[in-house]
Amino acid sequence: MIKMKLNNILGKILGTDKLYFEEVHIEDEVIDEIINIAKESYPNEFVALLEGRVEDEILNISGLIFLPSDVSNEGAVMQVFMQPLTLNSLGSVHSHPGYNASPSDADLEFFASKGVFHMIIAEPYTRDSIRAYDSWGNVVNFRTI
Ligand SMILES: [Zn+2]
Repeated sequence: MIKMKLNNILGKILGTDKLYFEEVHIEDEVIDEIINIAKESYPNEFVALLEGRVEDEILNISGLIFLPSDVSNEGAVMQVFMQPLTLNSLGSVHSHPGYNASPSDADLEFFASKGVFHMIIAEPYTRDSIRAYDSWGNVVNFRTI
């Protein structure tokens, strides 16, 4: 709860206080797309930004935003690090070759600097191998709709 409050305070300072949310809903199609792209990109990582909006304290993720050179075999996230977030982008998703969906140090640095909600999909690239995190790397639950 302390972190939620901090998020609120930071949000007010940064003018992003409309990004406060209690729940995350992700459209089924978005999950399917993430799974498909992760499989296609393997053994490389893919990375995309998440598109969506917050309404009634629910963060709704409705689509993916791809960037130039969105597939890389070396730290896809670091390339996105240099990109400005678009107005509607709330966070990111990227894949990990291997079975570890925990954020790396570079991932955590990225999470802290961009957006409020981040997903990592690890092998075997199924719904169950997706983990989601907040800006601090804490696990966040989400619901598919
Ligand atoms: Zn990563």
